[in-house]
Amino acid sequence: MRLILLGPPGSGKGTQAQRLVQQYGIVQLSTGDMLRAAVAAQTPIGLKAKDIMAAGGLVPDEVVIGIIRDRIEQPDAANGFILDGFPRTVPQAEALNELLKNEQMNLDAVIELKVNEGVLLERVERRAAETRARGEAVRPDDTPEVLTKRLASYRDQTEPLIHYYSDHRMLATVDGMMPIEQVTEEIGRILQAVGKGSGSRAAKKAGAAKRSAKSAGRAPAKAAKKTAKKAPKAAASAKKTGKAAKKGAKAVKATKKAAKAAPKKSAKAAAKAAKGTRKTSAKAAKKRAKG
Ligand code: ADP
Repeated sequence: MRLILLGPPGSGKGTQAQRLVQQYGIVQLSTGDMLRAAVAAQTPIGLKAKDIMAAGGLVPDEVVIGIIRDRIEQPDAANGFILDGFPRTVPQAEALNELLKNEQMNLDAVIELKVNEGVLLERVERRAAETRARGEAVRPDDTPEVLTKRLASYRDQTEPLIHYYSDHRMLATVDGMMPIEQVTEEIGRILQAVGKGSGSRAAKKAGAAKRSAKSAGRAPAKAAKKTAKKAPKAAASAKKTGKAAKKGAKAVKATKKAAKAAPKKSAKAAAKAAKGTRKTSAKAAKKRAKG
């Protein structure tokens, strides 16, 4: 699964990303974290980014695009990732499209966390106080003055992405003012609708494959051999399921659009219908594979 979390500073992207990491076993790619690490390590990128970040501006596109390109190619990102803080501009989004195309990867969802600007300052101040209470260093850009600038950068350069992804029929919006747990549930529902929920067949298979790989590591040689024998079969069937899911996802996208337009009640029915479509296309794929 590959998804983007969009939202202003303090909207909860990091919190939700961490939860998704736990639920789906994918990695969180936060350009903010990567840049802070580069600043701390005083790498050439860090030296370039330091003052820009401290002032609440945006680091040049080519710098962050380079970072993400390298990161996406790492083996731990092969299973999927959550982009948190990237893309932040339309050129970054276009570069990401190109990158994913070259890697033959698809984007499953773009989720916007929508919050009232009024609460952001409060949230960021609370985060800084909590960090201080733990005895950790507070981010130098978590001050009211810099936050105002970060919000302006968001409004001017990142908000256009909402329209960009909505035009590309990729955008789903979640009310980020709800309690953390409810936001997570809502994100889960969206992922379910695109065929990527934690209860989906593909996710379950991935989990089973992971478990069997784990047990192969612990089991005696004979059992490990047996598991290893089964692995290619499991991989092939997972591939098939993936293909079917992809096909279903196309139909789901259309349904999603309808669900968005429809009142809440019928959204449930649309999701149900989408589920049916996925099942049907999975069945068809199975049939084709048999014949
Ligand atoms: P926020 O809490 O504002 O979402 P992040 O941790 O994502 O903060 O980013 C911190 C800072 O790092 C940003 O204010 C910006 O200067 C820089 N940064 C992070 N990601 C990007 C990006 N994709 N493009 C440009 N600058 C970025």
